[in-house]
Amino acid sequence: MARSDDEYDYLFKIVLIGDSGVGKSNLLSRFTRNEFNLESKSTIGVEFATKSVQTEGKTIKAQIWDTAGQERYRAITSAYYRGAVGALLVYDISKKESFIGVEKWLKELRDHADSNIVIMLVGNKSDLKHLRAVSTEEGKEFAEKHSLSFIETSALDATNVEQAFTQLLTEIYRIVHKKALTNEKNPSFKPALGESVVVRDPAEDKGTHKKKCCS
Ligand code: GDP
Ligand code: MG
Repeated sequence: MARSDDEYDYLFKIVLIGDSGVGKSNLLSRFTRNEFNLESKSTIGVEFATKSVQTEGKTIKAQIWDTAGQERYRAITSAYYRGAVGALLVYDISKKESFIGVEKWLKELRDHADSNIVIMLVGNKSDLKHLRAVSTEEGKEFAEKHSLSFIETSALDATNVEQAFTQLLTEIYRIVHKKALTNEKNPSFKPALGESVVVRDPAEDKGTHKKKCCS
């Protein structure tokens, strides 16, 4: 690690969502601190944690928000989603209800998050092979149907945890980078270094953007 934690090219806010108990907090602690807890400590959850990754020659600092258990009461506030450019939508491969719950979380994102938010569907607890209730195929199909990326992880044995975050961050970076290139004539659109970047339609800046809205 040659660069200090404060040197980065982009800062992306990522939110963790999904039913209670699917492993969101452990995915976060595994990714940012390489720690895993068998006990669920939802009440002492952190607000967010950060970690920088290198991708395509850039340093991306991820600011990853965890729910601290509010999802149990469906009381996640819109502040949680504000400015988020990516979401890891997590279910537990050993709990069918948590997979069924994914629809509800997608609706929550449509209602509260930026319409261009990049979403990755994450089937966590892949280590629980003997208890699997959702096949990899089901997860993949659902993700394809809703144009989401898809990965299976285990916060317990660390399988694919780094990959899940890095893949999401890379996808966001590519979108932002491409938009910056196609908007070179509009320098104000270019994301400033070290600033939180919201992936958005340039038309929005001109006030001509019609928000896709809820039904
Ligand atoms: P959250 O409510 O979504 O934040 O879930 P937690 O991270 O608190 O995890 C809930 C429970 O699932 C805890 O007992 C964790 O130890 C357990 N857990 C989390 N991730 C995994 C995993 O990948 N595999 C297994 N076997 N258990 C996990
Ligand atoms: Mg939690």
